[in-house]
Amino acid sequence: MATKEIRTRLATVLRPVLNHRIRIIRTIVQFIMFGLLNGLIFGIGRIVLILPIEFPSGGPFSTVWSAFEALQYSMTWWIFPYLAISVFVLFGSIFGKTTCGWACPMGLFQDLFRFIPIKKRKVSKPTNKSLSRIGIAIVIFIVIMSFIIGITLRNSGSKTAFGAGKNMPFGTIDPAATLFATLYYYLKWGSQYPTFGEEIGNWQFVFFIRLFILIIVLVLITLYPRAYCRWMCPSGAILGLFSRYSILGMRINKNRCTSGCNDCENACPVQVPILSYDKDLTDKMCTNCGECIDACNEGALKLSLRF
Ligand code: SF4
Ligand code: SF4
Ligand code: SF4
Repeated sequence: MATKEIRTRLATVLRPVLNHRIRIIRTIVQFIMFGLLNGLIFGIGRIVLILPIEFPSGGPFSTVWSAFEALQYSMTWWIFPYLAISVFVLFGSIFGKTTCGWACPMGLFQDLFRFIPIKKRKVSKPTNKSLSRIGIAIVIFIVIMSFIIGITLRNSGSKTAFGAGKNMPFGTIDPAATLFATLYYYLKWGSQYPTFGEEIGNWQFVFFIRLFILIIVLVLITLYPRAYCRWMCPSGAILGLFSRYSILGMRINKNRCTSGCNDCENACPVQVPILSYDKDLTDKMCTNCGECIDACNEGALKLSLRF
């Protein structure tokens, strides 16, 4: 009797953990990745590695390069961005957007915002899809800007006219860069803030524009989980072009989905229309986060190799 009671109590205590086991493992992995990506704090040197994540290479403790930054940097120096494109194609077509779900600091940051006790909202499926075009529009705009800067450099030998954005135009407004780099430097140096001071006259104006953009993003992600990932992130938008064909990805087994409870879709932070797929979830927003696996009591969903 006593053993049975202990078992029952243990099951009651462990149930919430087991019900969120993937979320717990993923959160641990995300924090470990955050530590590694800020490895300079722990004495880890910079690593010659480019990852498809939103994290500024100019951050105070950054160890790696973001692929989207590498893409802009190459283009503005009039070099074809072989490396950055290869990283997006390789990661996207092999792992899909797994780096978004498990490694990206901006993704972790947004996941933490989900704990703010404010009622989360959803948008309609067509709106979710339409808004995701903002990310693609940003990519196109930044690629054109980088091309213009690169060709200006080639023709005139200088690109200083483009000020703080001369190497990476998106860097001047990038909320991830503001969050993980600019704010730190601003708090550290205040009015002595050096980098922008050399690049453009009115750096304070740019700083407050950056801050304004970050605040908008913060409001959005508080109300709509992973809103930045879904609708605005250029790295996510590029990865999404390849992730639908990825080798690793989410699958649904419709034979097991007998209850039609909808718990998986309700749990999905990026509103993937999971039940509209027959087998492979090829949605460009899916980050392979596994929240839907945790939510499904029938074991109908799994992350697997898709060939
Ligand atoms: S979509 Fe962008 S911000 Fe979101 S996790 Fe992926 S790279 Fe990071
Ligand atoms: S479909 Fe599942 S794995 Fe993909 S983003 Fe939604 S909850 Fe995460
Ligand atoms: S949670 Fe599982 S059983 Fe429920 S609708 Fe989704 S796949 Fe089907």
